[in-house]
Amino acid sequence: MKRFLLLALFLLLPGRWLAAEDLFEIKPVAEGVYAAIAKPAYRVNCNAAIILLEDGVLVVDTHSKPSAARALIAQIKKLTDKPVKYVVNTHFHYDHYQGNEAYPSAWPAGIEIISSEATRANIQRLGIPRIKNEIVSMPQEIASLKSELEKAANAEKKEAIRKNLIQAEAYLAELKTMRVTLPTMTFDRSLILHRNARTVEILWLGRAHTDGDVWVFLPKEKVLVTGDALHGWTPFMGDSYPYDWIQTLDAAEKLDFDYVISGHGDVMQGKQKFELWKQYFRDLMDHTAAAYGDGTSLEEAKKRVSELLISKYADKFDPNFPRSVGSNVAKAYQVIAIAR
Ligand SMILES: [Zn+2]
Repeated sequence: MKRFLLLALFLLLPGRWLAAEDLFEIKPVAEGVYAAIAKPAYRVNCNAAIILLEDGVLVVDTHSKPSAARALIAQIKKLTDKPVKYVVNTHFHYDHYQGNEAYPSAWPAGIEIISSEATRANIQRLGIPRIKNEIVSMPQEIASLKSELEKAANAEKKEAIRKNLIQAEAYLAELKTMRVTLPTMTFDRSLILHRNARTVEILWLGRAHTDGDVWVFLPKEKVLVTGDALHGWTPFMGDSYPYDWIQTLDAAEKLDFDYVISGHGDVMQGKQKFELWKQYFRDLMDHTAAAYGDGTSLEEAKKRVSELLISKYADKFDPNFPRSVGSNVAKAYQVIAIAR
């Protein structure tokens, strides 16, 4: 009886109340093509792209944890009765593949997880050790959140930290039980799904944010899915190849698209962001190379080049730019120092 009452209550609840619990905002981009824009979370979730095919669904990227992927699966089931048949991992970063296991769990009859060869190898070589490292380092992070909570000045701050703490503890629990699920289908340059209604081109166009980034291109709908090779936040360059990245952005920009579903941030229209990122990488590399050429130390270069870049780009990237730019300069310095 209790169950029926609960069910009745569930059915009576307005959709809006349920939507507030969703982790993603689903935005239609073209007929049968959706962007799932991730809401803020303590351990960041990437966006996903949802592409409906005649025989099933293709989803691009799986977020930082299986629970987030399961949350998206619940939202996909509201869009279509079709099963997810293909998952694409754009690259090996934790916030794009760690939810993989949710898909074969939900559709055990058969699902292909597609990536570049490099991305599959990177998950094995780098992704798995990074999970192990996080399991060891997270308790320290949780301890500092707890001490922050004690020191928090007001109720509002306390509440924000408490929310983060709950998510951090849940994330650690998920890491401990995570079954790393590797891509089951890899390719070298391109993999194309030909369907009557649409064609899906999964492309490797060169090294960029990592050595394995793939782009998902819908030529008929003029939609490009970019992962972290281009997105709405400040570029993260830790595993990147900056000089190649500029060329790869050039190659991607030549594709005929109007809409971009990126790894982070909102759906974009047009190609302006490509120009911005290319110019930023050129300036970053040029200024850092000049500083390195003058014999400037890494610390001094970080300070000097960051100042130059902040004055030109702070209003063009997200509010985190001034805090992130220093690590980009450090990466540039390292690349230049190794190259010489
Ligand atoms: Zn990434």
